[in-house]
Amino acid sequence: MIKLYDKHFKPFISAKEIDDAIERLVIEISEDVGDEIPVFVGILNGSFMVVSDFVKKYPKPCEVTFIKLASYEGVKSTEDIQRLIGLTQDLTGRTVIILEDIIDTGNTLAEVHRIFENEKVKLLKIATLFYKPEAYKKDFKLHYVGIEIPNKFIVGFGLDYNGLGRDLPEIYQIKETQHMTNLVLFGPPGAGKGTQADFLKEKYHLVHISTGDVFRYNIKNETALGMLAKSYMDKGELVPDQVTIDMLNAEVEKNADANGFIFDGFPRTNAQADALDKLMDSKDSQINAMIALEVDDEILVERLLSRGKTSGRADDADESIIRNRIAEYYNKTAILKDFYSAQNKYFGVDGVGSIEDITVRLSTVIDKL
Ligand code: AMP
Repeated sequence: MIKLYDKHFKPFISAKEIDDAIERLVIEISEDVGDEIPVFVGILNGSFMVVSDFVKKYPKPCEVTFIKLASYEGVKSTEDIQRLIGLTQDLTGRTVIILEDIIDTGNTLAEVHRIFENEKVKLLKIATLFYKPEAYKKDFKLHYVGIEIPNKFIVGFGLDYNGLGRDLPEIYQIKETQHMTNLVLFGPPGAGKGTQADFLKEKYHLVHISTGDVFRYNIKNETALGMLAKSYMDKGELVPDQVTIDMLNAEVEKNADANGFIFDGFPRTNAQADALDKLMDSKDSQINAMIALEVDDEILVERLLSRGKTSGRADDADESIIRNRIAEYYNKTAILKDFYSAQNKYFGVDGVGSIEDITVRLSTVIDKL
């Protein structure tokens, strides 16, 4: 991963893949051009790398020239194309191949066609190393395309972000989500996850998602999801994975601009942990740590029974349901310790003590991430 000014970029197309694509372009174009001496016209600034590599591979004599156009401001392609250096030689009767680094909206290409409108060239063809079909808004034919890419901002191999990144030998793609910190707060029922999450979300400006709270909200509002979840929750059992995963995805989507998340009560199964990894991956992000509050069972039962006196939660009122929830945790959920340990992301924290002391213990872990 690299950072240019304020933005993070991830590796996207390797130097080898670029080289192979240029090789293919060379073969296609040289076969079409035959024995004629073509004039390759690079569009500066971005095309300097592709032109250089291309002509080094070109098997026969050729000429090279450049025109210089400017269209990008920051990460946005602008309509307003500036012609900084036009054609400096007479191309009457010549076979001209435009060599572009990238074609996205096609605005630059429209300007290229305007430049050639009154030139009496024999043939004008367009070749581009990268092409964004989803962004292309023009009808001009693209004769040779190296690699089609999705409509994401890229840098490297001649392409820049505000002037930086042109020198990179490979292509990087902008990260969908800029830096997030994502924590899984883990521990058996009654360990104090909700209480601690309230402090941590303020301190680290994170969005707290408690699946239990979301279910309870749905039950209170008598939604279809609430009705479905209630039957499981009342017995202290887990709600089926797919229901929980869909709900969690929707909660994350609602907070697309978050600095990061505290997941509380999720994941509880391996399938949920896999789904969470996939979700984070789709945001170009990841879970940074699972922080587990470790509390003895008998203390948990005591805590939950005393919470039940005021919380109104049916699953806190009955000792056998409480014990079932704790058993569910050890049967189905505790295995997630292995899942995150394998990624070196598991941190156990003593969950017995004053609320403040435990917050300090958790912060010590988070500050080191
Ligand atoms: P909690 O508030 O985290 O103790 O959750 C209360 C109840 O909500 C649990 O006993 C489950 O029935 C249900 N629940 C919460 N999170 C999940 C989850 N990730 N997967 C399945 N069920 C859940």
